[in-house]
Amino acid sequence: MYYPEPIAKLIEGFTKLPGIGPKTATRLAFFVLKMEEEDVLDLGKALVNAKRDLLFCSQCQNITDTDPCYLCNDKARDASCICVVQEPKDLIAMERTREFQGAYHVLHGAISPMEGIGPEDIRLPELLKRLQDEQVQELILATNPNIEGEATAMYISRLVKPFGIRVTRIAHGLPVGGDLEYADEVTLTKALEGRREL
Ligand SMILES: [Zn+2]
Repeated sequence: MYYPEPIAKLIEGFTKLPGIGPKTATRLAFFVLKMEEEDVLDLGKALVNAKRDLLFCSQCQNITDTDPCYLCNDKARDASCICVVQEPKDLIAMERTREFQGAYHVLHGAISPMEGIGPEDIRLPELLKRLQDEQVQELILATNPNIEGEATAMYISRLVKPFGIRVTRIAHGLPVGGDLEYADEVTLTKALEGRREL
């Protein structure tokens, strides 16, 4: 079936998003056609602004609209303890617990030989630089409890050993194979409290 060019382009655009197949993309595109013009303009603006105004914090690598981000700027937080997470949404999950008062480092991915993602493809060099430049005493590895997350935690732990920094891994009890972002606050708080030395 052939659609007019504008809608074909819209469908093509949606197809590039994660988890969206051609069917869903088509449904979304036709939904947009039915939306109020004002709402469509707002959505378009939000897309462009998010891309244009957000940057990566030069310290923790989280997405932010100021550099350093508000977390790295917060003097009340303990900069000597860095919690390493895979994605910005994992940082949000940790923040929701209100238990962690340290700093963060966002890797933006995990090591995955299967997908050809190596240590240089995530924000690991940036983490190493922080360990050299800052007075870090503890690194809490809060990568996801799945194969990639565990592999990444092991890799970092081996890499960091020579620095003489305490390296801990958040406890299990998190659903194995699950994502940190979906863990409820109680589970995540317990996992943080029960972290063990690596
Ligand atoms: Zn930051």
